[in-house]
Amino acid sequence: MATKTKFQAIKGTRDLLPPETELWNRVEQTAREVFSTYGFGEIRPPIFEPTELFARAVGGETDIVSKEMYTFRDRPEGAESLATRHSPLDSSLVSLRPEATASVCRAYIEHNMQQLPAPLKLYYLGPMFRRERPQKGRYRQFYQIGAEILGGTDAPGIDAEVIEMVMLFFARLGLEGVQLDINSIGHSAPECRRGYVEKLRAALVEVRDQLGEDSKRRIDTNPLRVLDSKLESEQAIIAKLPRISDHLCDECSKHYAEVKRQLDLRGVPFKENWRLVRGLDYYMRTTFEITAKGLGSQNAVCGGGRYDGLVELLGGPPTKGIGFAIGEDRLILSLQEAGKGSVTQGRDVYIAWMGEKAQPAAIAAARKLRGAGFRVELPPTEQKFGKALGQADKLGSRYALILGEDEVASGQWTLKTLADGTQAKFSEAELLEFLRHTRVVSS
Ligand code: AMP
Repeated sequence: MATKTKFQAIKGTRDLLPPETELWNRVEQTAREVFSTYGFGEIRPPIFEPTELFARAVGGETDIVSKEMYTFRDRPEGAESLATRHSPLDSSLVSLRPEATASVCRAYIEHNMQQLPAPLKLYYLGPMFRRERPQKGRYRQFYQIGAEILGGTDAPGIDAEVIEMVMLFFARLGLEGVQLDINSIGHSAPECRRGYVEKLRAALVEVRDQLGEDSKRRIDTNPLRVLDSKLESEQAIIAKLPRISDHLCDECSKHYAEVKRQLDLRGVPFKENWRLVRGLDYYMRTTFEITAKGLGSQNAVCGGGRYDGLVELLGGPPTKGIGFAIGEDRLILSLQEAGKGSVTQGRDVYIAWMGEKAQPAAIAAARKLRGAGFRVELPPTEQKFGKALGQADKLGSRYALILGEDEVASGQWTLKTLADGTQAKFSEAELLEFLRHTRVVSS
């Protein structure tokens, strides 16, 4: 006898179900609308890419690449049999994407998009995969909405505009407690960022004994990351470390000052945060992070920054670049916590039809109302009047359209408003007119 296996979604993954998915759709629709008003077009890169793409772009020393990627060995080209799938001879590793900027840059190079009018503005949305420890707001399959501007200049007005766009998107959704932190982490040229990193490393070596294990390791691998440590015991030590703002070269200082002026011009409030370095290697100059209310420790809903060297690092021409990624799961959580997540899953009209002869009229009415964009429930079998109204109520219907044989014969249909029980009679044409009118009034 077959044993009963109870399957469950894998740890860190989850099913998004109605009615919540209505909210997801609303968020995504709003993103599409806002981003298109800034001239962005959608890109849909694949879910998996060569592991090496992420190792090069995100950085081999980052947590994402060193610990969190879902990597597997693809079978060699032409190998059909299952038995060869795990052949140790095949070294072509692929990974589920932990983020999408690397893919967008790969696509930019692959399709010679530098030949298109610059700058090129692309946005994406979809699932990303990181093998992190799951908790509230942190999943192994999570969703990002992101955008990238590639090519053209690195004028600070571009940095400010892309930030303005995210803030507008959040405002459109009614996200609460939004705070924008910005920083400049300088240029990777020797006199600026690299010089600072060496000073930081030297300062960290001095206090090595007082640091936690992660930070100790990062002194060698990625000292900037020590700055965003949340470990309580390290906070006082970090406060005394050298600050990048004191080590920016003239060009980077000017760029940063102008980004701030451009944000002021756009009326975008921000807070400077010298410890904001971001976890990915490809960033330079402008970095930013946006936090929102109701998320506990995982309160970053958006991270982004400038990455002028990335396209070149991946084998393309020297190209300016800036972008951001919004954590959609967290954005949704924050909206729900603030009571902005209510969704209408109900029906506009429940068709309570009774009697054989009323069925064709009910089917036709359902088709017509759906054609006009109303949410309609048409019971597949005849119901008693009381049961039909009970069902209409359970489904959160606004109206019940009562169609009995008398109504069909007279052409006068009864519409019952479920909230107050009132009824009115309409011809078919009047009914549609009435519903259209109340929709305008109520929305
Ligand atoms: P990052 O580029 O890593 O800062 O990611 C950008 C945004 O994606 C973050 O600010 C989060 O909102 C979101 N994010 C990153 N990792 C996760 C995760 N494991 N679960 C949910 N959201 C995440």
